[in-house]
Amino acid sequence: MFFRQTAQRSEVIVLQRVTLIRGDGIGPEIAEATRRCVDATGAKIDWDIQEAGVDVMAEKGTPLPDETVASVAANKIALKAPITTPVGTGFRSINVHLRQHFDLYACLRPCKSYEGVRSKYDNIDLVIVRENTEDLYAGIEYQKGEPDTLELIDWLNAHSKRKITKSSGISIKPISVEGTDRIVQFAFDYARANGRKKVTSVHKANIMKHTDGLWLDVSREVAKRNPDIEFEDRIVDNMCMQLVQKPELYDVIVLPNLYGDILSDLCAGLVGGLGMAPGANIGKDHAVFEATHGSAPKYKGQNKVNPVALILSSMLMLRHMEMREEADKLEKAVAAVIAEGKDVTYDMKPNRDDPTAVGTSEMADAIIAKM
Ligand code: NAD
Repeated sequence: MFFRQTAQRSEVIVLQRVTLIRGDGIGPEIAEATRRCVDATGAKIDWDIQEAGVDVMAEKGTPLPDETVASVAANKIALKAPITTPVGTGFRSINVHLRQHFDLYACLRPCKSYEGVRSKYDNIDLVIVRENTEDLYAGIEYQKGEPDTLELIDWLNAHSKRKITKSSGISIKPISVEGTDRIVQFAFDYARANGRKKVTSVHKANIMKHTDGLWLDVSREVAKRNPDIEFEDRIVDNMCMQLVQKPELYDVIVLPNLYGDILSDLCAGLVGGLGMAPGANIGKDHAVFEATHGSAPKYKGQNKVNPVALILSSMLMLRHMEMREEADKLEKAVAAVIAEGKDVTYDMKPNRDDPTAVGTSEMADAIIAKM
């Protein structure tokens, strides 16, 4: 919390401090457009502006300065514009680093149809809850031919009826009781807090009995603790078909890391693609809100790209901060501009060369004008 006394009035306005990471590539442009839209809702936010990405690397010697991490640690909430993953610098993805550092175990990806968006579907209102820390993404991998890998293969071949070929590479898939319990409980809590009716847990328990089977067993146990919300499970391949054929049957969908990654892109495709896909990475104490898309470096500095995914991410942030009125105001304004189809960026026009397309900042102006 942060307090400020206005010059004209004696009342004390309580401002909540939020870290704004401007990112690189198209990041700074969409971050600024988003900040203006959030401020226009009247949300009482004091922005703590921080840098990360390739643009600060030369100056700071790292794409993720300590002060940026310290700011997120202190403020607990961050809105993050996209950041390029530097290739060949030995630095892993900043996004992955933040997720691990703050144990942001839940990746939230709502996928909703807005009138005026070109898509084959017009009735989607799904929320993907993806586990963010375990599964094949845990980063435990063995390269083919390495001594450790050969030793592991020898051990596995000695302890299993099935045999692994010596030339194999191996990725380990850990799924724990604690990791599953907290993400499935998160899905139920999110459903309850947002007026949702059903949670669907997705798995391949028929094949991977000790990982996905554990996931399914724990999901069922968590469901018993949350009897006010409907629960069901689906096998992942069937789920993909159902989402394409009958997406209206689903509500909140909770998945292990890998299936969550794949199905969140599938669902983004149902609602008009990356330009419309907001997201959040949420932990026990910290939360980082960000668009699903990347830094699109080729469009850097052109005031051209669509700010909607980051603006909708900021709408999720406002909801998370219990600023529901402001969040609704922002969502309605975005929906109105998209439905009109006039003041929208090139990617939302029927023809991408449409000369009436507006820039990033002008689309933000149009959204602000609707509030
Ligand atoms: P990208 O999402 O940056 O861009 C792919 C294409 O999608 C762009 O060329 C553009 O045509 C389109 N696009 C993306 N965002 C758009 C927008 N807001 N409006 C209109 N069109 C848009 O994916 P990429 O090219 O694979 O990745 C570029 C960099 O971003 C990489 O370094 C990658 O690691 C990084 N990345 C960062 C994040 C993040 O910060 N969370 C996420 C994904 C990728």
